[in-house]
Amino acid sequence: MAMTTSSAESRIQIGISSCLLGESVRFDSGHKRDAYINDDLAKYFEYVSFCPEVGIGMGIPRPPIRLVGDPAQPRAVGVRVEGIDVTEKLIDYAHAVVADLPPISGYLFKRGSPSCGMERVKIYTDKGMPNGSTSGLYASIVMRGLPNLPVEEEGRLNDPVLRENFVERVYVFDRWQRLCKDELTPAKLIAFHTRHKFLLLSHSETHYRRLGRLVADAGTRDMRELSREYVSTLMDGLKRRATRRRHSNVLQHIMGYLKRSIDTGDKAELNRVIAEYKEGTVPLIVPMKLIEHHFRRHPDDYMALQIYLAPHPTDLGLRNHL
Ligand code: SF4
Repeated sequence: MAMTTSSAESRIQIGISSCLLGESVRFDSGHKRDAYINDDLAKYFEYVSFCPEVGIGMGIPRPPIRLVGDPAQPRAVGVRVEGIDVTEKLIDYAHAVVADLPPISGYLFKRGSPSCGMERVKIYTDKGMPNGSTSGLYASIVMRGLPNLPVEEEGRLNDPVLRENFVERVYVFDRWQRLCKDELTPAKLIAFHTRHKFLLLSHSETHYRRLGRLVADAGTRDMRELSREYVSTLMDGLKRRATRRRHSNVLQHIMGYLKRSIDTGDKAELNRVIAEYKEGTVPLIVPMKLIEHHFRRHPDDYMALQIYLAPHPTDLGLRNHL
């Protein structure tokens, strides 16, 4: 059912709409190859591709379909050819994919597709008038079946904040899945949580506090139930935008770990650079590099563990934007 792009073991597996890889699977025999996905992310991700419309036997080329009817329960029917209704086939196919998926750590969907669109897919009335929007039939079942899975659309990856957010969540979810391969103990959960504290704080203080309370219960509660609650709260919290204000708050916290090791001049410089970042005149990479420099000279065991300092490969340049 699924196709993989390479067998490289070290890459993180990501589900993807086949046409985004340049596979000529669209209704008109074309594709929608995405340069960033194929040229940049592919260095780190191994793609597992699905084309649900081909998967249900519609063929290439095929008559185009669209969503019609009740926005809560749309049907996938032919645009120009009457009598085509592939709703049930797409739903069955999506359930089969969810049940049989390899351990992917994210999914990239094709924007606007009645099958693959993550959100804002147009729905029409029977007479062809616009009738709201929703998710594609296939995508909605994948997202419901795997609610913690990081998902995104290729178009939204053009937004540097959403791009970083998706990649960051993929790396966190991948680490979580690796952690859960063996039995999860309270000690392992606490160690995992400790490493992700500052990262989480850069997204949501509410989730940070909630997870702190949850982890404090490890050892007294059923670990399977607790870990389910933990990962869903964690992934939900990481979806929140990491704003300049939140990042600046985290940077100030981190600076506290340097207060005894750097002198007044270095502190003033770091404070100035953090303020410039908060005002939007320098990108996040600037204070991060300065902090990295200080910790290289004055190592700190606790900070060395923090994922926040290196949440994804540097050469993706995800913290270089203003
Ligand atoms: S959007 Fe989905 S269904 Fe359409 S061609 Fe791409 S992979 Fe196939």
